[in-house]
Amino acid sequence: MVEPFTESGAELRRLYTGSVWAEGPVWLPGPSAQGRVRWSDIPNNRILEHEVAAGRTRVYAKDAEYTNGRTLDRGGAVVQCSHGRRAVERDNPDSDASAPITLVDSWQGHRLNSPNDVVVASDGAIWFTDPPYGILSNKEGREAPQEYDGCYVFRLDEATGEVAAVITDMIYPNGLAFSPDESILYVSDTGDEAGHIRAYDVQRPDGGPPQCVNPRLFATVRPGAPDGFRVDTEGRIWTSAGDGVQIYSPSGDHLGLIEVPEKVSNVCFGGDDGHDLFITATTSLYTIRVTATEAPRPTV
Ligand code: MG
Repeated sequence: MVEPFTESGAELRRLYTGSVWAEGPVWLPGPSAQGRVRWSDIPNNRILEHEVAAGRTRVYAKDAEYTNGRTLDRGGAVVQCSHGRRAVERDNPDSDASAPITLVDSWQGHRLNSPNDVVVASDGAIWFTDPPYGILSNKEGREAPQEYDGCYVFRLDEATGEVAAVITDMIYPNGLAFSPDESILYVSDTGDEAGHIRAYDVQRPDGGPPQCVNPRLFATVRPGAPDGFRVDTEGRIWTSAGDGVQIYSPSGDHLGLIEVPEKVSNVCFGGDDGHDLFITATTSLYTIRVTATEAPRPTV
């Protein structure tokens, strides 16, 4: 274990095993000690939840249309990606866990590829990546052709319904997160020749819609490749990798590693005090106490 990123004496604990490919963790805060972690078991086409205090895991939804990454919107509702519906959607817990509300499933008349990961900015806009993993085969979705020529990062303005392609120069954009002040967007690229995280400055010329400019390599992550990641209050990146969770400084220096015995897909911060790191890693969900916590969204 690495100090100072994990608490003194902290040990990695496995909370659940039995997934094929676990991804898309989100912390669902509840009354004290009643929080839960929800995540996707993509090839098994189901959504799982772990109640931390009870130490219990249950199936939240079956036939879930191959959900992947998820986050919370400003109102605390779950926003998630679906390979099967080729959509970004909002969970609809009051009606049917397997019938979420579609927010976006096309761009300029073309179906999306298979949205992979999602973040909600402080202004409520929904940013997501759109690589083709859910349409390349029937393993994590349904095999189908791409309907536009590329794999973009999009921004959905729910107020206007506008869907804008904000990044178009990546191979397979995958995980994404903002710096604490939202001046930088980080996006991982899991395309064959990539395996790195890129950084883009987010600018709003003349107060208009944001644009991603000045693309640059932030960090090449090995072994494996960076899939999902989160940013802490200090602007450090906690990224998935083949050997565990790797931590990078805001300038891209490798600071540390939390070793995990399975290939990691994603992480989220949670727990009552925000210092539990939850790790989706192939067949399992792990947790460890860490000294950092997630950067809050800036207020608008
Ligand atoms: Mg991903």
